[in-house]
Amino acid sequence: KKVADRYLKREVLGEGTYGVVYKAIDTRTGQTVAIKKIRLGKQKEGINFTALREIKLLKELKDPNIIELTDAFPLKGNLHLVFEFMETDLEAVIRDRNIFLSPADIKSYIQMTLKGLAFCHRKWVLHRDMKPNNLLIGPNGQLKLADFGLARLFGSPDRRFTHQVFARWYRAPELLFGAKQYASGVDVWAAACIFAELLLRRPFLPGTSDIDQLGKIFAAFGTPTSSHWPDMVYLPDYVEYQYVPAPPLRSLFPMASDDALDLLSKMFTYDPKARISVQRALEHWYFSSSPLPTDPVKLPRPA
Ligand code: ADP
Repeated sequence: KKVADRYLKREVLGEGTYGVVYKAIDTRTGQTVAIKKIRLGKQKEGINFTALREIKLLKELKDPNIIELTDAFPLKGNLHLVFEFMETDLEAVIRDRNIFLSPADIKSYIQMTLKGLAFCHRKWVLHRDMKPNNLLIGPNGQLKLADFGLARLFGSPDRRFTHQVFARWYRAPELLFGAKQYASGVDVWAAACIFAELLLRRPFLPGTSDIDQLGKIFAAFGTPTSSHWPDMVYLPDYVEYQYVPAPPLRSLFPMASDDALDLLSKMFTYDPKARISVQRALEHWYFSSSPLPTDPVKLPRPA
């Protein structure tokens, strides 16, 4: 039985934040695809026009480092989003103890992540839910950002679903302080956490609650001061914290190169206005210095 007269349903790939994801064959192209079924629960009238317009925008976001949304259709009270099928994700790569990641491999993965982000930021779309399992890896080693714009469309996932604990580890300090209006800096902070995780091969700031998350951030970078971050005191959930000095970044990343540490520190800037942009991060000398990023087809991947 075909879905929407076009897709042959295969096995379930997993249960995601917004609903079940299954594998399917697109009979029109012969390609394997991943279909994300999103429960539309509350909205009785179906998808509203704003959502449809946003989905149309997402379909137009085409870049080698963005997962392509090839089709979208409503069916039986669910919205179905059709994406190109991807083999694995960065979380699987980081966790796989059989995989050795060289400095050039790490550079390649983080460069592809930033390239995908840069494209979307140029189009004024924020990701807002960056984490290693949202960075999918295709057959030729290309890393592609998944779930772009979904957070804005369907609500911030970690607020509504308790199983979503991981997203917290990638949250920028302004979000933890309750910022309501936030900008591209939140994606840069998350990308920095992913960069750190590639270097350490474990989550860098695995907070167990929002308060603990801030504690872990302060322990790593010292408590922020209003001289570093003037707007901090105006954030809704800001409270004064006991002073914690910053240890040298080098002590947290003993194996990283000086180039990598310099970029990392610019991405982990407290003040979102002073934090490096994705575009500037890509122009950082880390990417042009030796060793050059590994060619994606040569990157190690889980067997
Ligand atoms: P989450 O919301 O927790 O990030 P997702 O909804 O993105 O999870 O995905 C749920 C499952 O489906 C995961 O196991 C993921 O690996 C898989 N998946 C999602 N998108 C794709 C895709 N394009 N290709 C292959 N597998 C995918």
